[in-house]
Amino acid sequence: MKIIGFYADSFEASLVQGQLANAGIQACLLNEYVNEVMPWGSDSDRAVRVGVADEDYAAAMAVLAPEGSEEAEAAVPKACPFCGSEQVSLGLRGPKRWRKILWTALAVLTMSPPGKVRANYYCRECRREF
Ligand SMILES: [Zn+2]
Repeated sequence: MKIIGFYADSFEASLVQGQLANAGIQACLLNEYVNEVMPWGSDSDRAVRVGVADEDYAAAMAVLAPEGSEEAEAAVPKACPFCGSEQVSLGLRGPKRWRKILWTALAVLTMSPPGKVRANYYCRECRREF
């Protein structure tokens, strides 16, 4: 068993589990109920871990494309084409974490890698979409 990631809650972790299942990889959630038995733990104590079999590790990592990888960076333009502002976000507004969850959910639903999900970008400076 190898741990492929830590997630803030079991909902997020189960989305990842679903993504892996689509790719034919069986993953299990560890620590899923720790929030209920150990509410005083630190964030890292309470993180939900997702684990896969040793032989599935490389495939699982490929499916998930680690955060901050070139692929993930390439999906988000660095600056607004209209005003040059770097205050650019995906069309789905809201806290970063939720946007990531939404993207993951979309990717699971459409069975495509997160980077391939199409979305509009939104500039917070000039409020234009592109
Ligand atoms: Zn702009």
